[in-house]
Amino acid sequence: MTALPARIASLPKAELHVHLEGSMQAATVAKIAARHGVVVTEEEVRRRYAYQDFVEFIETFKWVTSFLREPADYGVIVQDFAEALLAQHVVYAEVTLSIGVMKLRGQNPQANFEAIVETAEAFESRGLRLRWVWDAVRQFGTEAALAVVEAAGECKSNKIVAFGIGGDERSIPAKEFRHVYGRAEDLGMRKLIHAGEVGGPENIREAIEHLRVERIGHGIAAFRDPALMDLLAERQIPLEVCPASNICTGALDVQLGVTGATIEQHPLPKLFRHGIPIVLSTDDPTMFHTTLTGEYENAANMGLEKAELERIVEMGFTHAFR
Ligand SMILES: [Zn+2]
Repeated sequence: MTALPARIASLPKAELHVHLEGSMQAATVAKIAARHGVVVTEEEVRRRYAYQDFVEFIETFKWVTSFLREPADYGVIVQDFAEALLAQHVVYAEVTLSIGVMKLRGQNPQANFEAIVETAEAFESRGLRLRWVWDAVRQFGTEAALAVVEAAGECKSNKIVAFGIGGDERSIPAKEFRHVYGRAEDLGMRKLIHAGEVGGPENIREAIEHLRVERIGHGIAAFRDPALMDLLAERQIPLEVCPASNICTGALDVQLGVTGATIEQHPLPKLFRHGIPIVLSTDDPTMFHTTLTGEYENAANMGLEKAELERIVEMGFTHAFR
């Protein structure tokens, strides 16, 4: 294990790929469940926060979000999450909200968002700015995704910076969402997508060509396609790389074609040293037992030097949407 230089740990940082619903501490889940008269112990949450593969992870994500039933629940998560970010010197974050899941459950995303923003605003004076990515679930289909974009437009909030799609990238091809991304662009939203996480490099290329996305969630499959690596470097399209997530979901095993891949085998150094911007991120930190500081430790363990880590810290700000 390589020790993380103290200077890197203490630098102010930005976190650009993190899901609010994947950031609940076990105690927060228990607290929210109790609000609805459901007894969930912290130990049970911790037991559920362990997965064999991507499908099992998605099942846990569904379970944990099933306790989010009213706007105030979201306020509770933001409170705990924002404190955790401040403790790690995070001063800016673009946080993904699973609006597709809220709509599926018949909730009013605007009402949830108001509670989220109200709680978040109190942290601005403490030096933490939070902005929001409205996220649709790929396998819910194009019409559901379009409804997420329209709901974002109705909010007319300058705190919503981008639209993205997550979920199972093997379900529906990116190009079918072209009109959805076109509408997001018309509404002034920046564009993201999860691609090349468990799918191949062709998914990344398709999203760039058909949807004109500006950052790629994960994108680790790029290392398998030298021409795509050149394209990402030339156009300076960042990959939001989340190493601990890639281990926990088995995505790294899938990309390397092995079982039990270790953090040292991660393609991050290869991608970064090819000139592709890297935005180091946690994805679902509590569900993957990680923190942003922990991800810098992971990157150090992959062999990145102090100056390279400093460059990655800077990139978190350079490639932010605000
Ligand atoms: Zn993600």
